Amino acid sequence: YAFLLEQDGLAPVVDPIESMYTRRMYYRIRDCFSRPVTGVPGRSIAVMNRTTTDYNKTFQYNGKATTVLNLSSYNYLGFAQAKGSCADAVEDRVSKIGNAFSSPRMDGGTSALHREVEVCTAGFVGTEDAMVVSMGYATNSTTLPALVGKGCLLISDSLNHASLVAGARLSGASIRVFKHNDIGHLESILRRSISQGQPKTGRAWKKVLVVVEGLYSMEGDFCDLPRIVDLKDKYKFYLYLDEAHSVGAMGPSGRGMCDYFGIPPSKIDILMGTFTKSFGAAGGYIAGSRALIQHLRIHSHSSIYAEPVSIPVLQQSLTSLRTIAGLEGGNEGKERLDRLAENTQYFRKRLTDLGFILYGQKDSPIIPLLLFQYGKLASFSRECLALGIAVVVVSYPATPIITARARFCVSASHTREDLDKALDIISEAGDRQRLKLMSS
Ligand code: PMP
Repeated sequence: YAFLLEQDGLAPVVDPIESMYTRRMYYRIRDCFSRPVTGVPGRSIAVMNRTTTDYNKTFQYNGKATTVLNLSSYNYLGFAQAKGSCADAVEDRVSKIGNAFSSPRMDGGTSALHREVEVCTAGFVGTEDAMVVSMGYATNSTTLPALVGKGCLLISDSLNHASLVAGARLSGASIRVFKHNDIGHLESILRRSISQGQPKTGRAWKKVLVVVEGLYSMEGDFCDLPRIVDLKDKYKFYLYLDEAHSVGAMGPSGRGMCDYFGIPPSKIDILMGTFTKSFGAAGGYIAGSRALIQHLRIHSHSSIYAEPVSIPVLQQSLTSLRTIAGLEGGNEGKERLDRLAENTQYFRKRLTDLGFILYGQKDSPIIPLLLFQYGKLASFSRECLALGIAVVVVSYPATPIITARARFCVSASHTREDLDKALDIISEAGDRQRLKLMSS
């Protein structure tokens, strides 16, 4: 840890509290995170076998892996796997046109395939146009600064993703934060901020932008879109909706929260989503009016200064998107969506019946199970892995330290037997960790 020491009278390069956390707490449970896997995480996942038992040494692996059930990936519709129509289409496309562009969109990195994915995305989510970006994180962190700045007001849900927080801060707009999903609090901020105008001058805000997510990944709950849309009519603001987790997973046709709540997409000014989750690919998009997208093509740093989405990723996004939209022929997309909804409801109900305390809403495929104590993160995760399932455990800094949780992600690719096996394992681990409310 010599690099943590103060140099030449400067403050340590890493904050002492953070380094204490890394050294004393995270370091001892690091086997529960960033586990090396072989192959992509689908319905099951092959986790490499660790040979080192001494936590003070660098971990060593013996080159072999153990396959366990996977409840840890955002592979909601099961498109992230090695075999099938997506993988075949990717292989075919790469063999014909290659891999990467090696220049930003502006400088010769715009291909016909980018446009095809954009047109297909806009058609799917119901907007005039769309723009794809090579990373979901960068989609948020570079779009917000291209839309608002000094003299603008950005109002953000307190649990918005780090990429939205980064974008908000980069933008230079004034930021207000409302309590997670508390629409009364949002309204009181709107009422006060709009009537008072900009600090010091009292001038009207140039723009007011409310930023929310469709499905919150740590809580497994939805934003209250119908009430936010009502507020929009009353107070006049722009609405930015991050559908990273909801597009391709929520709504009868998988089109996200507008589809789920029956709200016309035209009510949302800026629809953001990612291809990382339901589409089994990577990258993000912004969908909205033609004017919005034209503006972003010129003003978003992702479009001007960064590598565009690569060919295999574009093709994976396109094939899975077309499958969900029913454009590839057959009913596969709808079948996957229905299976996801069924699996979600079954898994949630059984966990509740077993006596676990869950967060989130009944239709959410993200299912957080409360462990409460930080100390139970590692024991629960290790126990589940030893018994045959990979789960994600989360605590500080992603959640408050006292609401440490395990987070299960259900997928359309799970069979009923998979879920039953997982439930048996979670039940056994839950008994040992004394996590159940009552004996079942
Ligand atoms: N927005 C939300 C709500 C997210 O949860 C995430 C990541 N899980 C992102 C944006 C960033 O997306 P990506 O992982 O594709 O960079």
